[in-house]
Amino acid sequence: MDRQQEFVLRTIEERDIRFVRLWFTDVLGTLKSVAIAPAELEGAFAEGIGFDGSAIEGFTRVYEADMLAKPDPSTFQVLPWRGERPGTARMFCDITLPDGNPALADARYVLRRTLSRAADMGFSFYTHPEIEFFLLKSGSGAPEPVDQGGYFDHVPKGTAHDFRRAAITMLEQVGISVEFSHHEGAPGQNEIDLRYADALSTADNIMTFRTVIKEVALEQGIYATFMPKVFADHPGSGMHTHMSLFEGDSNAFYEPGAPYSLSKTGRQFIAGLLTHGREFTLITNQWVNSYKRLWGGGEAPAHLTWGHNNRSAMVRVPMYKPNKANSSRVEVRTLDAACNPYLAFSVMLAAGLKGIEEGYDLPAETEDDVWQLTDRERRAMGIKPLPASLSEAIEAMESSELVAQTLGEHVFDFVLRNKKQEWDDYRHQVTPFELERLLPRL
Ligand code: GLN
Ligand code: MG
Ligand code: MG
Ligand code: MG
Repeated sequence: MDRQQEFVLRTIEERDIRFVRLWFTDVLGTLKSVAIAPAELEGAFAEGIGFDGSAIEGFTRVYEADMLAKPDPSTFQVLPWRGERPGTARMFCDITLPDGNPALADARYVLRRTLSRAADMGFSFYTHPEIEFFLLKSGSGAPEPVDQGGYFDHVPKGTAHDFRRAAITMLEQVGISVEFSHHEGAPGQNEIDLRYADALSTADNIMTFRTVIKEVALEQGIYATFMPKVFADHPGSGMHTHMSLFEGDSNAFYEPGAPYSLSKTGRQFIAGLLTHGREFTLITNQWVNSYKRLWGGGEAPAHLTWGHNNRSAMVRVPMYKPNKANSSRVEVRTLDAACNPYLAFSVMLAAGLKGIEEGYDLPAETEDDVWQLTDRERRAMGIKPLPASLSEAIEAMESSELVAQTLGEHVFDFVLRNKKQEWDDYRHQVTPFELERLLPRL
């Protein structure tokens, strides 16, 4: 047993932990949890805990269902919610097959594999998400926001204010540092930004974050949702993600004196994101509803452009601290918080690395608000649209060698099959829109 594993066992004894939850994520980004007794833990570290993979969305075909969940001791955390006594703790797991090889359906493994490709090129990858979500009075029926606040509003005695305070306290208790939080533009909409960390920790943190936010909301008798577009007439919820590559201690995107202090590596990384953006949007924006956000205005991007203060661009180069070398980064604004963060980080990293490997040229930045231009002007400027629907996103990913390679054949095929089914289910609906418009006329 290694030192980290010993530390976990000792803590469990000292803190009187009776349940250890093993967490992992299915292909669509849903958190899965199996609780074990502390006595099982030594075996879990050595061999993993067996479970039936065929019951998990996207994991296996039925004839190869046996899988093992192996807890990662570096993610050990005592869980503070519901004041549970005796205590509960959790660890994220890596999933393996009975022969010890990584399970190809494990999203955490997909990210590990992509991070090690970056490491082969000398890079480590850091991310920092800005997570938006709605607080609603309940999780069913017509959605009703808990307040009528707007961007940065301080709502006196507001539910959202109390909520953010409780949520941030709990996030800090599970070891997640919050950098920034505020009311967002729409009624009931909030944003919480997590501190920069390596991409694997950030993806784990996003999974924990979504659970904590939902738990705290339940405790307060309200409902939190990461659904990308809840209200047709208000902005949707995104998950802008700031990204940077480091070579050792130095930020590979930083070059003093260059425009926006952005190095050649940084420019090529952005070029990779733009070149392959259409292909990987199905992963960063995976639901029918995601496209209602992207094409619904409200500062969500709809085109493959970049700029430094252009909020309709897919990629933005923020300039908060021009003299601080290590703060150089690029912000991708397409993602929503209903994605699988392991897979989303993998495809974006792979696209950026491809830009570096192939030495892609970065097109000119777009200063105009892309929304204001006509289609013709956009075409003349070489501005391409993001997929406009789940169906277009499926089509764009289907022919992507880069995404197939990055996700691996198993995950790639599963996502395409699952999303085609979602699109079929969706397009056979007759919507209230059609009934309202057409029934009186036809
Ligand atoms: N809510 C907007 C989106 O969907 C972003 C608003 C903002 O943070 N500027 O992307
Ligand atoms: Mg923000
Ligand atoms: Mg925001
Ligand atoms: Mg932002």
